[in-house]
Amino acid sequence: MSDDHYLPVQKVEGRCRICGARTEVLRLTEFNLKVCSPCYLRFYERRLRRAVEKHSMLGEGDRVVIAVSGGKDSTALLYALRRLGVVMGFQVSALHFHLNMGDHSDRDLQVVEEQCARTEVPLRAVRIGDLGLRVQKVKGWHPCAVCGAIKRSLLDREAREMGATVVATAHTLEDILLFTFKNLLSRKYYIPPPVLPPGERLVRKVKPLYYMPERLNLVYCHQRELPVFEEKCPLWSPRGHALKEVFDHLERVIPSGKLQLALSLREALPEGEACESEPRSPCARCGEPTSQPLCALCQLQDWFAARRPFPPSPG
Ligand SMILES: [Zn+2]
Ligand SMILES: [Zn+2]
Repeated sequence: MSDDHYLPVQKVEGRCRICGARTEVLRLTEFNLKVCSPCYLRFYERRLRRAVEKHSMLGEGDRVVIAVSGGKDSTALLYALRRLGVVMGFQVSALHFHLNMGDHSDRDLQVVEEQCARTEVPLRAVRIGDLGLRVQKVKGWHPCAVCGAIKRSLLDREAREMGATVVATAHTLEDILLFTFKNLLSRKYYIPPPVLPPGERLVRKVKPLYYMPERLNLVYCHQRELPVFEEKCPLWSPRGHALKEVFDHLERVIPSGKLQLALSLREALPEGEACESEPRSPCARCGEPTSQPLCALCQLQDWFAARRPFPPSPG
């Protein structure tokens, strides 16, 4: 995801509002707060813990699988949950999908391996190429939709095999706003929940960064000097992300506007996910829950199998 349009967090000389030190401080307009670096790390981790506890996302004895892309959001989540797990008594492991986009995916995996080695978190890396899959335009599907469907389908299967009691994903405050706004624009009135209960063959899912603005994740990674994979996806296009600029503009005009908007939307709207409305039954081939005779993953595998060897990816 691009951060080109992002307001960088400013560093200015001033007094830390938490410890009182006169030093270089970070200006967090979201919270009308100026803090020094050590206080920032504690502030970030406390906010994360508050979200986890508020929605009872994770608890003692949980085996938490964190979906990691290598990007700033999941990197911050991996590191902060690893630390929180020590305090709250849950274990973490990481799950990464190698998306079969040549060197780009290889370099991404390398960064994720480095992150997991640094944090001493066990990593499971799944190569979608080994499953006869790749990310590209398929029939009427945009490549991003194909990628999303593959990751969603594999997440539950792999997490189950890893013995997960819960899966943590790095959805951020902006993701929640974006999803909700896209819904509102097509007259669907609900907001994604911070916790998705388990279902038939579906692992419980939680979003610990639900209230966390993305740029704070980036600052956390920088302050902790964590390696982050910052390359743009080769299939990235500005079109899919234009709506996020609306929220960044809001934040510029009204500091903490994003968070206030999300809190208001949570009060106004019931929780829901797009896929919940359709009745689900087992896929005729693999048995995973789906609203169609064959699940998305089996459909994609068929589509690619009929076109081997793979055509060159578009764009
Ligand atoms: Zn301080
Ligand atoms: Zn299937």
